[in-house]
Amino acid sequence: MTLAGLLLAAITVHSNFEAGSIGKVEFVGPNHLRCAVKGETDQDGRNRQPSWFYFRLDGVQGRELVIELTDLHGEYNYRPHDGSGHRNMRPVYSYDNEHWRHFESSEWDPALHAIRVRFTPEASRVWIARQPPYTTRRLARLLDELRGKPEVRCQIAGRSVRGRPIWLLTVTNFKVPDAGKKVIWWMARQHAWESGTSWVTEGALRYLVSGDPHAARIRDTTIFLFFPMADPDGVHRGGVRFNEFGYDLNRNWDAVDPRRMPEIACQRQAILNWVDSGRRLDLFLTLHNTESSEYIEGPLSGSPEIRALGERLWKLLVEQTAFHSPGGPRDQPASTDPGKKGRMTVNQALYQERRIPAFLMELMVDPSPRLGRPPTVEDRLEFGAALVRVLRAAVEGATHAKIEN
Ligand SMILES: [Zn+2]
Repeated sequence: MTLAGLLLAAITVHSNFEAGSIGKVEFVGPNHLRCAVKGETDQDGRNRQPSWFYFRLDGVQGRELVIELTDLHGEYNYRPHDGSGHRNMRPVYSYDNEHWRHFESSEWDPALHAIRVRFTPEASRVWIARQPPYTTRRLARLLDELRGKPEVRCQIAGRSVRGRPIWLLTVTNFKVPDAGKKVIWWMARQHAWESGTSWVTEGALRYLVSGDPHAARIRDTTIFLFFPMADPDGVHRGGVRFNEFGYDLNRNWDAVDPRRMPEIACQRQAILNWVDSGRRLDLFLTLHNTESSEYIEGPLSGSPEIRALGERLWKLLVEQTAFHSPGGPRDQPASTDPGKKGRMTVNQALYQERRIPAFLMELMVDPSPRLGRPPTVEDRLEFGAALVRVLRAAVEGATHAKIEN
């Protein structure tokens, strides 16, 4: 094909690959695309969240593209919003679906309620996403690397609605007896769009199995348990926040339903089996992404020990990482909607059921004031390693939270 022919060829849009998602695409001009973000609603058609898109454009080399992302309005905890919370969004692009860069800039169009990026691709094919994707395939590749290492045990805690494994990894020095070891339980990807937390988890796992002397000391004195991907079905289909039947896997911890929410049921069972057999659990942490705020939240008013643990964790994070959380740790309410069933998060439920010091962490996706940029894959991996050290330091000196039924 001649150069002129190439330039005239139509741009095509694709999302038929793992985690791919985009709504209707309209061509405002030959190089001007208006892309509706698909979004996802819950089992009752409520709480629409538009936080994920991941698509590929073919035939774009050298074109001065204008890409608009629309339909960013939604509802969170039953409160509607107009989408302007996405105004600082800086999506990512890749020429190989492997290495991701943030767009240099983006603009918020208040009239259109859309994010606009201008971009002249250097290659014919480009992938675009909300943040660097992390698929079930990527996790499988990591598990292949970790399996067989003497410090890693890989189990299946249960299966998702679609039968995908809910992995449970144990990382410790198995040659050192468990007695006296601290126990830290880590959870990620309750919400499919929050791929940043999977990169953090991969960073944590890579650090924990590494030859670093500090990591080796941590393995000698700590048992780390990981649920690396709580919603593999959502991740696979390019979902946003809800499982196959529309249930939010970080609500509904008070509505155990193994048929509709097998992901919650099997993870809850694994945690309760652990503590009910008399084993300690010094800290539980579930990782999440938000657009622009970072914080930790836990049952601070539950006991002076838990408050001290939360304050230590927060202080260490702020001192030793780029965690941007000027407000300090937050005390969690008993439920996101007290009195209403199906509104309890994992940390709220674990504290209520067994008095477990269970925390939630939010990590921002938009430009971070402390990093001076949106977090990159490298930033996430590095943060994961630092988070392992910070969690271990935070539980040291923590009075063992007595497990009571
Ligand atoms: Zn989340």
